[in-house]
Amino acid sequence: MNVKQKYTTPVQKNDTFEGTIEDLTFQGLGVAKVEGYPIFVENALTGEEGTILVVSVGKKYGYGKMIDLKKASPDRVELVDKVSSQVGTMPLQHMTYQAQLAFKQKQVADALHKFGLDKGRTVHPTVAADQPFNYRNKAQIPIGTNEEGQLYSGFYRKNSHDIIPVEDFKIQLPGIDEAIATIVAILNKHNLKGYNEQHHSGLIRNLVIRKGYYTDQMMVIIVVNGHSLPEEETIVSEIVEALPNVVSIMLNANVKQTNVVMSGQQHILYGADRYEDKMFDLTYEISSKSFFQINTPQAEKLYQLAIRAADLQGDETVIDAYSGIGTITLSLAQKAKTVYGVEVVADAVKMAKNNAAKNAIHNVHFETGQAERVMGEWVKAGVKPNVVVVDPPRKGLDDYFINSTIEANPDKIVYVSCNPTTMARDVAKFVEAGYDFTEVQPLDMFPQTWHVECVVLMSRVEK
Ligand code: SAH
Repeated sequence: MNVKQKYTTPVQKNDTFEGTIEDLTFQGLGVAKVEGYPIFVENALTGEEGTILVVSVGKKYGYGKMIDLKKASPDRVELVDKVSSQVGTMPLQHMTYQAQLAFKQKQVADALHKFGLDKGRTVHPTVAADQPFNYRNKAQIPIGTNEEGQLYSGFYRKNSHDIIPVEDFKIQLPGIDEAIATIVAILNKHNLKGYNEQHHSGLIRNLVIRKGYYTDQMMVIIVVNGHSLPEEETIVSEIVEALPNVVSIMLNANVKQTNVVMSGQQHILYGADRYEDKMFDLTYEISSKSFFQINTPQAEKLYQLAIRAADLQGDETVIDAYSGIGTITLSLAQKAKTVYGVEVVADAVKMAKNNAAKNAIHNVHFETGQAERVMGEWVKAGVKPNVVVVDPPRKGLDDYFINSTIEANPDKIVYVSCNPTTMARDVAKFVEAGYDFTEVQPLDMFPQTWHVECVVLMSRVEK
């Protein structure tokens, strides 16, 4: 067959070449170049040299694999776990922890540079995690079925829907992996069938475990392709007996052909739809559908940075946008006159109100809705915030939100971000409108991965 090539590239699939890793991408892939054409190489570090096999080529870049590493970087460490490099749960595990922190600091600096915000401003060294492994308080695990028809826990092979068996995930809080193994064994004892994605048949799809870092309380969510579990009562009592710290078992009935894990209706099998954790001196109830920061001690450090940046004296009106179950809101409320929180997930707002009452904090108002809409309404209604704190999801802030915030004219805006690129894009708009900042503080919430959080304090420039 004579296939006409759409574009020419200096190397073809299955070629090998001697290459040097010149840089790392945002996602931690090594970049080697052949006549200026970038080849992205996983598990490779800046300065490393060796023979690279071209795995695929595209118009603007290709992918390769280091098949013979001839010069290793001093930042390289032995892989803790070979399986996890097949599933991609720890994409930076070949880097020393110090090098991971430096990589994250550089990511933030590069994002500022991209938006022309780097001159005269400092990006501080990344705040490290005390626990670079075993930190996640939530696990969302696909369940596979082996040839003997037995269920097993695992994770998806990269770019695939095959479930590779994994029992030790390395990054989950102690007790979570053991709980998964225990529940899988109980489900196997009852001969339950695993979900088959191709045929959209079988029952057990996923197990989701959430655990209180300070309380040890556990929530179990069983995601099924169906509406109930056979032998439900026995299974539930076996789980509770084997795992006495379980306070909530939920069934998520996800009968759709979808990759979204918890897209179904949920009902309680045991306890209530909530578990508790703590942050600082406050207690939080967390429901199955509410967001809660994945790394509790690092989230406390992140909030502390935001609280320090806000520098509240006690008489301020503060808006906390994207407030979740109210974790930042309540911490701010202890130091402010009034705090307004806005969050789009109704269930999280219910939890936030509940958490305010539980902690006897009364100077807070929570609103359900899109931050971009509610912010505009507050401004129209005459709410005059001295400080606005934002903690948006990865896509960052909507222009309507930014414009309403500028109109509200706060003295300070504290931006808590989980994506430096959208943070820099948004901050550039505030800078354009008369705010400025001198420093950015990155923080490592997700060791062994390329994710980085940061906090920026923007102040209105005096005219
Ligand atoms: N500050 C909280 C939550 C941060 S995560 C904490 O630290 O726990 C971001 C939150 O933004 C999530 O709770 C998500 O549900 C919410 N969210 C996403 N899009 C939103 C929007 N357009 N308006 C308001 N909230 C939104």
